[in-house]
Amino acid sequence: MAEPNNSQPLCPYCLAPIRIQSRDHIFPQFLGGKRKVDCCKNCDSVFGHTFEAEAAKILQAEHVFISSWGIPLRSADPTWKTAHVQDGKSYNLSVGQTGVKPELAKPVIKLDDEGRVEFGEFVDKKQADKFARSLIEKGKAKEVKLEVVPPPKIDLTGLSHTLVLGPDIRRAALKMCLALSTLLPDFKMEEIAEARLFLRGDRRLVPVNNTLAAYNIYEAIDSRRKALSHVIYVERSQSRVYGLVQFFGVTQLFCRLGMPKNGSGSAAIFASLDPVTGREEFSDISPLDLTEPPYLLSREEHPRLMEGWLKKYRDEAIKRGATHPPDLRRSSLEIESNSFRLRRPDEDG
Ligand SMILES: [Zn+2]
Repeated sequence: MAEPNNSQPLCPYCLAPIRIQSRDHIFPQFLGGKRKVDCCKNCDSVFGHTFEAEAAKILQAEHVFISSWGIPLRSADPTWKTAHVQDGKSYNLSVGQTGVKPELAKPVIKLDDEGRVEFGEFVDKKQADKFARSLIEKGKAKEVKLEVVPPPKIDLTGLSHTLVLGPDIRRAALKMCLALSTLLPDFKMEEIAEARLFLRGDRRLVPVNNTLAAYNIYEAIDSRRKALSHVIYVERSQSRVYGLVQFFGVTQLFCRLGMPKNGSGSAAIFASLDPVTGREEFSDISPLDLTEPPYLLSREEHPRLMEGWLKKYRDEAIKRGATHPPDLRRSSLEIESNSFRLRRPDEDG
């Protein structure tokens, strides 16, 4: 085996010497993250095409869902694919200047009794033009009339979003912690060896032991950020290296990262990203020594913690100006899994 070349920096995710350098976002770009760390091009590309792409789908949907409560989240890219079906047409939802914006998910073509195109509805003029041209070229029509129809009034009451804490979102959280931990003073690659295994390992291997869903309230974290902000916190103490990720301030994953290397002092970094202003902040703080959440909740503890968690979600939304505070429920059917069905009230007010 070749000796690693000490002069060449190593990728924090795979430990290979960085031959082709890439810059990986600490907070994912799809959440609005800006600050980056060095890694190898292969890791950056593999992560982007695998778990990050999947985690993005879930979190972008949640971004739009939260916007639908009347909170002015940044109108970045997020699109919630086929979020809503109305009058037999499915719509993607995204965040525009004035709130949630619907867009036809796919063209709707209506045929007459003889199988001829009677009319079609398209996402934009370009798509409609293309379709019209193809009809004329194929001799199926002599002329095609195009008109612009105003966007439909979308009724968002009863909209529901399922938040799944599956392997992809867990890996995304773990990677966010690894990225931030490289900024710890005296950081050593060996400190995060445990977590690294799950990033590079078999995709089917669920990193459930290293990423614990946390329904308890961490006052010390919550008091340091604006409501609904994303957070990454990493800490190295004498006995452990760990992190906590909060998506939208409420979905929490406690990440075991590894063991401190002999001689490294205690240190902690707190990072937050505000989804309303887009402001990203990083600061060195005194270690908070957070309690690790239990791997399994007892039957007595479970409903109490769930209730507190859903209340926290609603409270943070109200604090951030929600005009339609959500009625968040956890379906009883999903109690055993890590999946949440969150829904808007059936009726406004
Ligand atoms: Zn790598």
